[in-house]
Amino acid sequence: MNATTASSAGSRQALGPDAEVVVVGGGHAGAAVVAQLRSQGFAGELVLISAENGLPYHRPPLSKKALLEGADMASMSLRPESWYVTHRVTRHVCATVTGIDRAARRVHLQSASAPESMTYDALILATGSAPRAWTDPVTGGDALGLADGVHVLRDFDDAVALRAALLACGHLVIVGGGYIGLEVAATARALGCEVCIVELAPRILQRVAPEATARLLRQLHQSHGVQIFEGAQVVVLQREGKRISSVRIQTAEGPLRELQADLLLAGIGAVPRDALAKACGLEVGNGIVVNAHGQTEDPAIWALGDVARHRDQSIRIESVGNANHQAALVAAALMARPEPLPLVPWFWSDQYGGRLQIAGLWQPADRWVERQEGAQGRSIWSYQGPRLVAVDAWQAPGAYVLGKKWLETGQYPPSEWLANQDHNLKDWVPQALSGVAS
Ligand SMILES: Cc1cc2nc3c(=O)[nH]c(=O)nc-3n(C[C@H](O)[C@H](O)[C@H](O)COP(=O)(O)OP(=O)(O)OC[C@H]3O[C@@H](n4cnc5c(N)ncnc54)[C@H](O)[C@@H]3O)c2cc1C
Repeated sequence: MNATTASSAGSRQALGPDAEVVVVGGGHAGAAVVAQLRSQGFAGELVLISAENGLPYHRPPLSKKALLEGADMASMSLRPESWYVTHRVTRHVCATVTGIDRAARRVHLQSASAPESMTYDALILATGSAPRAWTDPVTGGDALGLADGVHVLRDFDDAVALRAALLACGHLVIVGGGYIGLEVAATARALGCEVCIVELAPRILQRVAPEATARLLRQLHQSHGVQIFEGAQVVVLQREGKRISSVRIQTAEGPLRELQADLLLAGIGAVPRDALAKACGLEVGNGIVVNAHGQTEDPAIWALGDVARHRDQSIRIESVGNANHQAALVAAALMARPEPLPLVPWFWSDQYGGRLQIAGLWQPADRWVERQEGAQGRSIWSYQGPRLVAVDAWQAPGAYVLGKKWLETGQYPPSEWLANQDHNLKDWVPQALSGVAS
């Protein structure tokens, strides 16, 4: 991909003022793509269909501030209602797209107020992802329906229900030691709950972060009184009547252990909401398969955000930064404009008042170098051979900013230079022989 030249989709005609664009999904990606289309000059009809109620809103606070302090949906809105009016975006809420007729270029909807169907010239699928179902270890059924007190966290309504339950909760068990599980653990401790995390993999954050980051966060949680069981799994979910009362876990060491639980959060990842695309014959496989511009094999259908997977990559990137970047890419392709610069993926996670910032993508085979940053901070630098691929910075915004810049420019110090704690990050100057650009 060339950063500044017109996209290869630039040979297309830009969408004209008579075109109709329908966006399915009013989350970060859907909201961003309508904004990008308008800012890149699209003058035609623009429709945003959302299964949820209300305005598109910020999802990250659902496991952080909104869960801790409570929040109304309006205060979390990405943009005010007036923005959509001014920019002529027709919104349909509580409306679910149930089918796509590709031949007729028409979508079918289920809604009390929206039309039953509508046509499109370009259809953009931004349906996001849904919590991976956690199955009851005994019956094999979806545990959500099996007991009161079992929760997931994806939408505003989930957060409202979880917060109410946490306020009344004594003992929380979290299944899954990923970022959402860890963030909820921190919030739950602040709300006074006893918290246990049960992680099936040998360690927390196994799929997404180096061991050094996992160690740092494990220690942080343990210092706040969270019990973490790694290489462990829930084998029995006990109920009193319909309510969960405890779970029995198989620990890594072998013995079974009983954990009191009046609340359980299943935080075991998310799966793409790609059923619509699959049903109309589009290629799916861990998400809707798209090319570098976000276009599916059907030239009139595009996909972005959590639900989309680039055909050359095995993973989907689930982050706000990625949703926003893909929105710019899709809008640029539709309007035959130059592509945005390539994205170095970036993420953040807030826990116990501290912030972890990540740039780049870590892979399990990477080696890493760890540094102390000031009194409280750490930075962890992952390398594939000589190539810097990611930085994880805990309470170290300066290291994050520099690391992100180094990843963007491809000019960075070798790991041996970073390993020397006497070196100040700011002192590294790119030199012909000192950097290792890929
Ligand atoms: C609790 C939590 C914390 C997070 N924290 C962070 C963080 O700290 N940093 C970060 O970068 N990312 C974070 N994320 C991830 C980030 O929120 C997602 O990557 C982002 O929301 C993806 O945007 P999206 O538009 O693709 O999907 P979503 O935001 O999920 O939006 C998809 C929308 O489509 C709607 N929809 C689905 N199917 C249909 C249909 N058939 N018809 C109509 N509408 C439909 C859904 O209801 C939903 O409203 C967090 C996610 C969660 C759940």
